[in-house]
Amino acid sequence: MIDIAKLREDPEAVRENIKKKFQDHKLPLVDEAIALDKEYRETLTKASEYRASKNTISKSIGALMREGKKEEAEAAKAKVKRINDDLPALEEKEKQVGEKLKEIMMQIPNFIDSSVPIGEDDSKNVEVERFGDAFVPSYEIPHHADIIERVNGMDKLSAGRTSGEGFYYLLGNIARLHEAMIAYARDYMIEKGFTYAIPPFMIRSSVVNGVMSFEEMDAMMYKIENEDLYLIGTSEHSMIGKFQGQIIKSEELPIRMTSYSPCFRKEGGSHGIEERGLYRVHQFEKEEMIVLCEPEDSMKEYEKMWRYTVEVFRNMDVPVRQLECCSGDLADLKVKSCDIEAWSPRQKKYFEVGSCSTLGDAQARRLGIRAKNDRGTYYLHTLNNTVTASPRGLIAVIENNYNEDGSISIPHVLHPYMGGKKIIEPKN
Ligand code: AMP
Repeated sequence: MIDIAKLREDPEAVRENIKKKFQDHKLPLVDEAIALDKEYRETLTKASEYRASKNTISKSIGALMREGKKEEAEAAKAKVKRINDDLPALEEKEKQVGEKLKEIMMQIPNFIDSSVPIGEDDSKNVEVERFGDAFVPSYEIPHHADIIERVNGMDKLSAGRTSGEGFYYLLGNIARLHEAMIAYARDYMIEKGFTYAIPPFMIRSSVVNGVMSFEEMDAMMYKIENEDLYLIGTSEHSMIGKFQGQIIKSEELPIRMTSYSPCFRKEGGSHGIEERGLYRVHQFEKEEMIVLCEPEDSMKEYEKMWRYTVEVFRNMDVPVRQLECCSGDLADLKVKSCDIEAWSPRQKKYFEVGSCSTLGDAQARRLGIRAKNDRGTYYLHTLNNTVTASPRGLIAVIENNYNEDGSISIPHVLHPYMGGKKIIEPKN
């Protein structure tokens, strides 16, 4: 949510930003917000005046009585009665206009950073840097579903029966490898000074509305029937929600945390669920990192954060690249975002395994998370990034460590998490 002061000062800048995000259908929201803001402020002023004069007049009645000014006291009482008759309607209007204004403001996208490339969709994202050799072996790499099948590592058929399309059972060494990746990612982040957390896997609608736009919520979140609860799509949401309504001392910033959770996603977007493999599924697991920091530090934190993901994947022998997301590919609350993509030696192209974003003060405004120093309180900045998500990350590790005989070499850093096991052999 942008600062309403910015909208008052420079509505044209807000319109320009909407156009840069190719969301022209949202342009009317700017005039709507300006009109509501005017109405809200007028109502607020009038209601405050009423409340103030009610107080002053009420206080004067006693004095008038004591002074024997009965007539004047009666007139004052009549005035208080008139105010009491009118005030509830005015206060109701103040509440309703205020809520409507907030609803409109929440639909206006956050300002993007000036460094963000302008483009309508992810086809306009820009490659920034590659890490590691994008190697294509002389032998053919099968589809990951076939590789996993040969090592007895997955059962999608049974999952189809128990839960439907987009679910899976991971089995044996593949299930273990998946857990090993997440555990390694966790320990890597702890080593970097992040505090580990396992958050609630369900959150209330007030938190959902605080961390993402209505459109995202609609496409992603599973709602629990008859409860004000949603299954989380990412632990970022419960982790940022943890600080809802808090005022944090500036000396305590930055707050850096890493969190584990299963993630549940409807995947209501156009891409849908991938039938065969594990690329896009309804349930996956993720080690995430979040940072809460001073506004002036968010870009510095952002630069450090995506590099952690690069290192985690490089340590698992996966070549990666960093891709800067263009304006049209940024969700509404994001100021700047990049994807980390892993090399697929089978497809001979990169695919997304992680995403790092700074949201400026958008989430902090929506959730009322402030920092405090000697000069007063202010909204802090929030950031989030994937350390590793599996089974998508598993695809990258499996493809890049696949041997011609059908076995999978386990990356060195994961050996301790696999009981010292170094290789996963095919069935026969
Ligand atoms: P996001 O939180 O949407 O930025 O996604 C972070 C990472 O989670 C992605 O880069 C993927 O590695 C993984 N991911 C997101 N959605 C899915 C999905 N439906 N199935 C499997 N992995 C996913």
